[in-house]
Amino acid sequence: MSVNSLKYNEIIQLLSISNTTLIAVSKTKPIEDLQEMYALGQRDFGENYVQELVDKETKLPKDIHWHFIGHLQSNKVKYIAPFVHLIHGVDSLKLLQEINKQALKNNRTIDCLLQLHIAEEETKFGLDQSEIEAIKLILPTLHNIRILGFMGMASFSENMVKVKREFIHLKNEFDLFKIWTNQNPMDATSNGISILSMGMSGDYQLAIECGSTMVRIGSLLFGARDYNK
Ligand SMILES: *Cc1c(COP(=O)(O)O)cnc(C)c1O
Repeated sequence: MSVNSLKYNEIIQLLSISNTTLIAVSKTKPIEDLQEMYALGQRDFGENYVQELVDKETKLPKDIHWHFIGHLQSNKVKYIAPFVHLIHGVDSLKLLQEINKQALKNNRTIDCLLQLHIAEEETKFGLDQSEIEAIKLILPTLHNIRILGFMGMASFSENMVKVKREFIHLKNEFDLFKIWTNQNPMDATSNGISILSMGMSGDYQLAIECGSTMVRIGSLLFGARDYNK
């Protein structure tokens, strides 16, 4: 067994108490590992390479919800638009417009999370305040996407005080955005802002304490990743 089923059950129990959804992050892992996880009952999987995601989607059961969690290039949206369940990493206006366009082509509505830049030290992808404001202006014209919430990645750090500060910052921005959408109803937010995607293997418990509703966990479940394969 390459999947840690004990850990899986432990995490599932904790998440059910706090009403949090688990995304099993399976990037770089072979099909067999995902099948094992599927047999345990897991249906939400997260990937961050387009080609790998498309390949896995064709080989695995159709009732899997595929989450795109990484940095997505606009010219690759078309490959995942037919089936993707939720795009977590929307980090530019241009990308959001392209997702809307490809969703329309596929005659569907694609659910998205806006990725906020929250890490204080490292440069990670994500929107800043002015970009959020620009997106707010354009949202009424986008009818084939739905913004369901926010996603963020904290600093990769042992300093849990700092990580906590970043999570709380994201939660505050999430709450403010929720209030704004209530005051400005439109297609793109009509389903309500309900998802806060934050927390990974190293910080998911802290993320839940800070209000996360969706955690993205890879190495705790599948073991460390080997990028040399
Ligand atoms: C790889 C990845 C994860 C999972 O990381 P682990 O530390 O293995 O749990 C979560 N979110 C994103 C965006 C990732 O790229």
